[in-house]
Amino acid sequence: MEKEKNELGITVKKEEDFSEWYSQVIQKAELADIRFGVQGFIVHMPWGFSIIRKIYEYLEKEVEDDGHVAFLFPTVVKEESLMKEKEHAGFTPEVFWVSEAGSKKIEERFALRPTGETQIYPLYSLWFKSHKELPFKGYQSRIPAFRNEMTTRPFLRGREFLFFETHDVFNLHEDALEQVEKDLEICNKVIKNKIKIPFLFFKRPQWDRFKGAVNTFTPDTLMPDGKRNQIASTHDLGQNFARAFGIKIMSKDEKEEYAWQTCFGPGIWRIMAALIGIHGDDKGLILPFDMAPLQIVIVPVLFSDKDSKEILKIANEIKNKLKGYRIKIDDSEASPGFKYNKWELKGVPIRLEIGPKEVKEGNITISLRNENKKFLIKLKDLTKEIEKFSKIIDKHIEEKAEEYFKNKTRDAKSFDELKKIIKAYKGFVKVPFCSVNKDGEKCADKLKEETAANVSGILYPKEDKIKEGQKCIVCGKKANHVVYVAKSY
Ligand SMILES: [Zn+2]
Repeated sequence: MEKEKNELGITVKKEEDFSEWYSQVIQKAELADIRFGVQGFIVHMPWGFSIIRKIYEYLEKEVEDDGHVAFLFPTVVKEESLMKEKEHAGFTPEVFWVSEAGSKKIEERFALRPTGETQIYPLYSLWFKSHKELPFKGYQSRIPAFRNEMTTRPFLRGREFLFFETHDVFNLHEDALEQVEKDLEICNKVIKNKIKIPFLFFKRPQWDRFKGAVNTFTPDTLMPDGKRNQIASTHDLGQNFARAFGIKIMSKDEKEEYAWQTCFGPGIWRIMAALIGIHGDDKGLILPFDMAPLQIVIVPVLFSDKDSKEILKIANEIKNKLKGYRIKIDDSEASPGFKYNKWELKGVPIRLEIGPKEVKEGNITISLRNENKKFLIKLKDLTKEIEKFSKIIDKHIEEKAEEYFKNKTRDAKSFDELKKIIKAYKGFVKVPFCSVNKDGEKCADKLKEETAANVSGILYPKEDKIKEGQKCIVCGKKANHVVYVAKSY
């Protein structure tokens, strides 16, 4: 029994060694298999993939409710297209090229998509000619993207990673800006409300915006090691890509004008990483009720053959009664203790334990994964109780995550103070800063050099007020913004 437990369970405490804890949860809860053999390419295992499909489902529903339609582009992008938008061509050092087929060189090599803009917008220039055809909101989902990353980590950084992207076209800039707000609201609805991950919205500094965008907005959360995790981003593309790709629209007053565009990319992997890291505990994964691949596991506690028939019969009746849920009876050979550990590790929200004593008294023991609590309930009230507990579980996960995230922001008044805080403290540090335009980039570089932390940006939509007379902690010039500093993935 003890041996079984050791093989199965997490051997480090999340608080003490987050990095090792994270790796063990991914492997032992069977979220991903990292033994595929090509660095940065992982196998999404059934348990992990089931959770990821939920994330996709939530997002697909919300963007479709917002008027988006799904399409599917090829995985590859033409070299010529990749180079068209000058800034965006900055992606080229990260792309994988397809340059050979069999033993022959391909005349016009092409890239594996690092992101969708350059494959989609050449077609948009053919699809849309009149203002009457706009707005158009399209998206693609459940697809991979590829970037040649040097250091890789499952669900945080990969050479192949899971992608979701919307690409919207408008007649007016104000409509595009309104879409940015809608995208951020989708983050609230999905990432905060459903997946229970708390975050702050930032407007990124100009030097850290998406390549080719006018402005980038992101919800960022913090992982338990204190590193910032950007879990989505939405971009005001202005007319930059429309100019580069010739997306010209005949306006109402018969003038040819470039379209206004936005794109939105929730980080499927990054959301998964936050879900694992923020909700999980020393026993393993913790999942919101609706996200769990298996919501209820019934563990029969069998002592003798005489009892077991009756107990299994009741277990089956319970399963039938609760068939609206994802439910299973674990009647495998292993001991109850082994089964408890296994399903706790995988984050199954509710466990029902049923033994001879319970059967005799018409009771059942319900055990909640997230709180490590057990309750004895009447078998006849089971349906009602499950419904009640599923809500309690979600509320508790949400409250715990909020508690974790609040007070994760501190202030520093000088560069020295920032350096001290960032060393010992896991969170955001607010500092007065000169500029979030090009002018501030030098200060950000220096800050990064000396602290290994990044300027995340300014809070959005309501920026913190800067006090009269405050100075940039790096250059000493007049501070115009309060920026948030954190180490990041
Ligand atoms: Zn400065």
